[in-house]
Amino acid sequence: MKYKSTRTKNSPPLESSEVILKGIADDGGLFVPETIPKVTPDEIKSLIDKNYIGRAVPILKKFLTDFTEDELFESCELAYDWFDVPSKVPLTILIQDEQHKDSPVGVMELYHGNTSAFKDMALQLLPQLMTRALKKVGETKEILILVATSGDTGKAALAGFADVPQTKIMVFYPADGVSKIQKLQMVTQAGKNVNVTAVKGNFDDCQNGVKKIFADENIRAELEKSNVKLSSANSINWGRLVPQICYYFASYAEFVKSGAIKLGANVNIAVPTGNFGNILAAYYAKRMGLPVKKLICASNVNHILTDFFKTGIYDRNRDFYKTITPSMDILISSNLERLLYHETGGDTERVKNFMQELNSTGKYKIDTPLKKKLDKIFYADYATEEETLEAIKLVFGTYKYLIDTHTAVAMSVVEKYRKNTGDMLPVLLASTASPFKFTGAVLSALGESTEKIDELAQLDRLSLITNKDIPRNLASLATAKVLHENICNKDEMADCVLKFAAQ
Ligand SMILES: *Cc1c(COP(=O)(O)O)cnc(C)c1O
Repeated sequence: MKYKSTRTKNSPPLESSEVILKGIADDGGLFVPETIPKVTPDEIKSLIDKNYIGRAVPILKKFLTDFTEDELFESCELAYDWFDVPSKVPLTILIQDEQHKDSPVGVMELYHGNTSAFKDMALQLLPQLMTRALKKVGETKEILILVATSGDTGKAALAGFADVPQTKIMVFYPADGVSKIQKLQMVTQAGKNVNVTAVKGNFDDCQNGVKKIFADENIRAELEKSNVKLSSANSINWGRLVPQICYYFASYAEFVKSGAIKLGANVNIAVPTGNFGNILAAYYAKRMGLPVKKLICASNVNHILTDFFKTGIYDRNRDFYKTITPSMDILISSNLERLLYHETGGDTERVKNFMQELNSTGKYKIDTPLKKKLDKIFYADYATEEETLEAIKLVFGTYKYLIDTHTAVAMSVVEKYRKNTGDMLPVLLASTASPFKFTGAVLSALGESTEKIDELAQLDRLSLITNKDIPRNLASLATAKVLHENICNKDEMADCVLKFAAQ
């Protein structure tokens, strides 16, 4: 399997190891597979009696053809070793009552990794793929991963790259712009190759600082002297997308194994969406042959994607809201570019024009034939803040099952979908974070006051009233040792990078 760019016709085909190391194509486009591989019904059947990794490797193998099966197994074992349940991605099946037994909702709990959010699924595997890719392409330099974070991605990347050979990881976060728990998660990160630095400024300062460093030829030349090369791990990297395709197949197999659906039965998939990565992985799974009817794209009040699917116009010229689902507070859903590429039949010229328009005017419009194609595949809607809280309360009241705010957005939109269309097919629903990760909002959904309660105390309170255990990575924070106390001005970030690289 070779990869090419979404923006240039006949761009040179690259191996998966090369695209994982490059991250983004030279023309600014995203890497896409030349063809979408197929999975036969027999292959899906063969997944049923395997464990998570046994289900994931055959899917990975179809895309990462320059990796050996042993390498993929070993990478998965190392990546998912720490997960706090043996099944890695448990499927919790919710059935409303006897009357609705043919309409189960299978909740894919994607949050049992090191940071209690679904980004661990990809950010634990990506470093393992990268370190093996370095060997394949004959790269002898160390790679230095730079991350600017508003909170969650930083910790997920740190946990993934800690002590991975031939890599270093450096995370910048806004000194006063992250929650107490997010900060604790980062500053207690162990590992010989990690650096965590607070920046006196906001998230934009961190992000602009990192962008400047990436664009600075002098810094690159300086780093060469220390035998270090810069790289990134952001959500457009193909190495982050492909691990996500696996769990749709694995969860479908689990759904069948549970007896809730029959092998070959159609399902709908619902995903709380931000950057369009997770739902794009579901799209690939559908194209590969997983029996999926509709992809339900759920947004919060920043519903730029709902409007796009409803009107065919993507328009970022709008107000931006901070919500109780911060990981979905996004106005540029970067991975949408890959969908446009595939659904235009690989029309790189059109994709390039859409992206240029987005860049210059903040919007673009797709034509009616393309919109009709998307209508067949996607249903899009959003949940307000009140509807999100209501869904948490309702699901807990009905099933004694606790969900976080992001998952609640998807639940709420599934309800709307079923009401509006009458389509009661079984649903696979992506649960993207532990409820303990967004404790304040979850407590208030359950009618608890959170005023003047410290974040760590909120964990205990939620555990007490719901009788659920706090995930161990969060429970250990109160006593974990602080290992990183670096702080710098925003104009000192480059110096910090050079100093860390030379260590
Ligand atoms: C990142 C994230 C999302 C959005 O996923 P995308 O792949 O960006 O669409 C949803 N929920 C949580 C908890 C996340 O961390």
